[in-house]
Amino acid sequence: MKTIKVFDTTLRDGEQSPRCSMTLEEKVEFARQLERLNVDVIEAGFAASSPKDLKAIEEISKNVTKPIITSLARLNKDDIDKAYESLRFAKKKRIHVFIATSKIHMENKLNMTEQQVLNKVKEMVKYAKSLCDDIEFSLEDATRTEKEFMVSVIKEAINSGATTINIPDTVGYITPTEYKEIIEYIKNNVPNIDTITLSTHCHNDLGLGVANTLEAIKNGVTQVECTVNGIGERAGNAALEEIVMALKIRNDYYNADTNIDIKEIINSSKLLVDITGSIVQRNKPIVGENAFKHEAGIHQHGVLKNKSTYEIINTDDLGINNDNIVIGIHSGKHAIINKMKELNLEEYLDNIDEIVIKIKEYLETNKTIDDDNIRKIIIGNVKVKRK
Ligand code: MN
Repeated sequence: MKTIKVFDTTLRDGEQSPRCSMTLEEKVEFARQLERLNVDVIEAGFAASSPKDLKAIEEISKNVTKPIITSLARLNKDDIDKAYESLRFAKKKRIHVFIATSKIHMENKLNMTEQQVLNKVKEMVKYAKSLCDDIEFSLEDATRTEKEFMVSVIKEAINSGATTINIPDTVGYITPTEYKEIIEYIKNNVPNIDTITLSTHCHNDLGLGVANTLEAIKNGVTQVECTVNGIGERAGNAALEEIVMALKIRNDYYNADTNIDIKEIINSSKLLVDITGSIVQRNKPIVGENAFKHEAGIHQHGVLKNKSTYEIINTDDLGINNDNIVIGIHSGKHAIINKMKELNLEEYLDNIDEIVIKIKEYLETNKTIDDDNIRKIIIGNVKVKRK
């Protein structure tokens, strides 16, 4: 079985997204949580973007020792120097350099030719390598880059010392099959590709971030870049928790796993919400409020008999042990009986038909009902049929 390295970029790509900025203390606190979650790499920031960012990377480097700490840098000396400076206290450090390689980015943003980009890669990856052994190189907008040029850039980066090559879907454009074809093309055309780690960084603009990431894993990529709760630029990045749990649940298919401590997933998600105030949609896989809840009668009946009828993830593994059965307008008798037993109201079970009607009446005008109100309805409105 393959072990996939998890590169978390919540503190860089995630933090860069609207309403997700964090203070220095918050970043350190979250980095500590990422260490408990047991990610392999923490992208702590982009040192050259601001003195504040540089300082935060430095503090994280002092406080978090288990994962590799990395800072992002453009392919210029000043960015690389700042990245290196920010990492000087890190026990394990990586400099992550990038340059755009698609025509649209080279022409409109960089104003550089292919040859100029290649020269820059050679010169600056070598420079970064002179400071740090562990060098990741990203081809920004790789999925919209011409394949032949992409291969030339990757060869140059590896020859200049890159140890990880990242193929980002920067704008969330690619589909799983096309992404697989790009990876196959790279593997077939870069002779020493097996000497480095291949990585993904998929955005979610078309809702394909996790699907693309998993397809890449299926095809030999061994590092995934992702964020907690899937936060990140625009529609966000591939969500860490979804990738990790897909590999766990469909191990039979992917034959791969991560080092993530899945009992820390919910804690990480909640801490991020607490820090940023950026809420998680209720139906978000794994970490959404409704992800393991059942309201419909048929589903409740099934789950009460055997959880695996409608649940593919064992919530105990995630450390969730709250009640998954929600009494709602679609609930049936079985769930209400179960709830009454839980609330020690068995003596009213003979009145179950009447109770079901009363609860449903309540739910005509209220979206939810809590235990207190269930108690009130049963005790206040139902005469006990004494035997
Ligand atoms: Mn990104």
